[in-house]
Amino acid sequence: NGFIKLGLAPELIAAVADMGFTQPTTVQEKVVPIAMGEAGSARFVDLMVSSQTGSGKTAAFLLPVLHTLIKRQAEAEAEAKAEFQRLAAEAAARGEAPLKKPKRKDPTNARHFKAATPGALILCPTRELAQQVAHDAIELVRHCRGLRVANVVGGMPYQLQIAKLQNADLVVATPGRLLDLQRSQQLKLDQVKFLVVDEADRMLDLGFADDLAEVNQLTIERQQTMMFSATFAPRIQQLAQRVMREPQRITI
Ligand code: AMP
Repeated sequence: NGFIKLGLAPELIAAVADMGFTQPTTVQEKVVPIAMGEAGSARFVDLMVSSQTGSGKTAAFLLPVLHTLIKRQAEAEAEAKAEFQRLAAEAAARGEAPLKKPKRKDPTNARHFKAATPGALILCPTRELAQQVAHDAIELVRHCRGLRVANVVGGMPYQLQIAKLQNADLVVATPGRLLDLQRSQQLKLDQVKFLVVDEADRMLDLGFADDLAEVNQLTIERQQTMMFSATFAPRIQQLAQRVMREPQRITI
C-alpha cells in the first residue's frame, strides 16, 4: 500500500486500505508528510494549500491530524501507565494494599486528553461539506480505539449534538453552529491544537470572515493551522496572514 511510505500510524493505513485507497493522491503525498511534522521536531508547520474538490484534499488534512491525535493519545496512555506503576511500586514498598486504578478525572490518567474539549477542529463552509468530511473522518478512525469524531452543523437538534460532543477529540463544524455552542458554553475551544479551514474561498464568499476571526482568537494557543482553498486570491492571502504563522504554500 502506497500510504505506508507516508509514515502514518498503522490504524490509519488499515483504514485507507478498507476504503479502497491504494496510492495517495498528489495533494496527499505533498501535504501529509509536511503536516505531520518532522519526527522529533517540536514545531508544526502552517500550511496554505491550493486544491480542488475531487483531489483527495479531505484525507490530505484528516490523515495528519488524526495521526498526531493517535500519537498523543498513545503517549498520554503510556505516561499514565508508567505513573500508575511507579505509584503502585512505591505503595508495595511501603507494604500498603495494592493501588486501585486511577479515576477517570485523574490528571495522570490518559483519559484527561479526552475531555469535552476537542483537540482538533475542522471548519467547513456548508453543512453538506461538513457532513462529508465528518463521514470520511469516521471511516478513518474505525481502527482507532477511543478516538471520537463529532459533527457540529446547523439543523441538527441541539441536545443530540451536545451529547455527541462529549469526549470528542475531533470536531468537524460549520462556523455558525460551532460559535452558538461555544457561546452557550457547551463547547470550549481553548484545547484546540490543530485547526483546518476547508474551502477558505467559499468560507469568505458565504460571509464567514468575522466568524473565522473569532475562532482564530478562541483557538489562539493552537500549534498548527492549515487552510485549503481553490484559489490564492489576495483576500485569501490576507486571511492566511491573519490566521497563520509563516505558512508554507503547497500548490497542486
Ligand atoms: P475529496 O477531494 O477529498 O473530496 O476526495 C474526492 C474523492 O476521492 C472522495 O470520494 C475520496 O473518497 C476519494 N479519494 C481520496 N483519496 C483517495 C485515494 N488516495 N485513492 C482513491 N480515492 C481517494
